[in-house]
Amino acid sequence: MKQSKYGETLQVLDKGYVRLVDVMGSDLSAANAARASFAKESDELTKSDAKLIAFLVKHHHTSPFRHAFATFEVSAPLLVARQWWKYVVGSDHIMDGWNEASRRYVTLEPQFHIPQTWRAMPDNRKQGSGGAVEDEKSRKMSDLLEKHAQNGLDLYNEAMNQGIAPEQARLFLPAYAMFTTWRWSVSLQGIGHFLAQRLDHEAQWEIQQYAKAVKQLVSPYFPVSVAAFSEAS
Ligand SMILES: Cc1cc2nc3c(=O)[nH]c(=O)nc-3n(C[C@H](O)[C@H](O)[C@H](O)COP(=O)(O)OP(=O)(O)OC[C@H]3O[C@@H](n4cnc5c(N)ncnc54)[C@H](O)[C@@H]3O)c2cc1C
Repeated sequence: MKQSKYGETLQVLDKGYVRLVDVMGSDLSAANAARASFAKESDELTKSDAKLIAFLVKHHHTSPFRHAFATFEVSAPLLVARQWWKYVVGSDHIMDGWNEASRRYVTLEPQFHIPQTWRAMPDNRKQGSGGAVEDEKSRKMSDLLEKHAQNGLDLYNEAMNQGIAPEQARLFLPAYAMFTTWRWSVSLQGIGHFLAQRLDHEAQWEIQQYAKAVKQLVSPYFPVSVAAFSEAS
């Protein structure tokens, strides 16, 4: 895992991670953008700027938070990536800029998420899952998934050994559990929106772990805004 000048790379799940690659702006960017209408600008974040940020978040004045950005590198199983991909507004991929490792060209060693704890079917179908199942059942499920992943990997390699292109051979890989890696550039508003929805207990547990990592990584750079978005959620 590569390190970053913006802090350590945080490991998430068994083989995933979140790395903060780049940061543009600060809490002051939002405060100064909000004050642009009065042609005022602060050089340092003051208590009144912090109050202004809390006010803006509380009353959904969102445009000032679109003057600060961050770029993350994320490695997550596809089931998490699919949920993350839905954040299109304020994210770079609304401009077609979500950049992801390609399995058409790259034959990176496929990696699979193998949870050690499995959750039961929920009582209420609207919840994602119930509590953890007993240890023995968890061990059995992990073992089954491990075998399934290995079987898929063997078939994938077999197809390529027979001269099939990686872009098609990948059909043999069990997709939901497979890790993929991408870069996500997003406005501070987009980060706030993602955190509000994905730190929530209703979000799937796996993406909650990624949201916690995103929050931990950006908090030192946007402490007032991230706290305000967290309180408002
Ligand atoms: C617990 C949970 C369960 C979910 N289950 C499902 C599911 O079963 N199936 C599924 O498909 N998705 C599901 N989602 C994803 C959900 O529907 C959203 O796509 C996702 O949460 C991204 O949020 P968003 O659409 O607000 O984000 P964005 O698309 O990034 O939009 C951000 C905000 O911009 C504004 N906005 C966006 N588009 C417009 C527009 N055209 N005009 C005006 N304003 C706009 C809205 O205020 C919006 O909230 C689920 C999400 C959660 C948190």
